Amino acid sequence: MKIQLLYPLCLRCGSLSVRSSLFCSTCEESFLSPRMLKHSRVINLQGVSFTVDFLIHWEPQESDSLSELVYLLKSRLSYTVWKFYVEKLTQFQSPRKTVGLKTALIPVPGSRSDKKAYHTQYFARAWQGFSPGNVLNCLMSDAEHAEQKDLTLSERSRTKMKFLEEFTNEIYTYERIVLIDDIVTSGHTLQASFMALKPYLRPDCLIEIKALLSRGKI
Ligand SMILES: [Zn+2]
Repeated sequence: MKIQLLYPLCLRCGSLSVRSSLFCSTCEESFLSPRMLKHSRVINLQGVSFTVDFLIHWEPQESDSLSELVYLLKSRLSYTVWKFYVEKLTQFQSPRKTVGLKTALIPVPGSRSDKKAYHTQYFARAWQGFSPGNVLNCLMSDAEHAEQKDLTLSERSRTKMKFLEEFTNEIYTYERIVLIDDIVTSGHTLQASFMALKPYLRPDCLIEIKALLSRGKI
């Protein structure tokens, strides 16, 4: 099983009987479950505001177990773990409103154009298993901006996002867009993605933004 290769011990107590959450059943119940809620936060950047739904809020100083979970979710072997957490996230959604709408799942690309952000791809794939939609890789981070090594962290976070023109006709057929990111911090990357997409969507298109984790001040 992949999960055994990834991490054989409960992230909280070290028990060997670890589950897909990367916790044992006791720690899942006492530590993890109370943190998994129907969270959302509104991000307002330069007059643009949007709501992001997420599953777990994470403060890096708060808990070593959570920090390790975040680190491991970035590993290449973590698909089973993503599946577990994304299923939890979908349980907090209300599918009735969106049933039957033609849906596109759009993963937010990594900030470097040469590297595929496989964890957002994992997220999209796992989401697809619980809520139907086509995965559309129609965004690309702007290499010119992203690959300059001398950028500061905040400049990097303002990396421009590009919509790939070959998707122009297809995207207009969707009635609902689910924009997917692994972790939301400042919201700059999400905002860039949102702004890049918006001109290509039909006016009545429903836009939802999902992240697994949220970090920093809400
Ligand atoms: Zn445990």
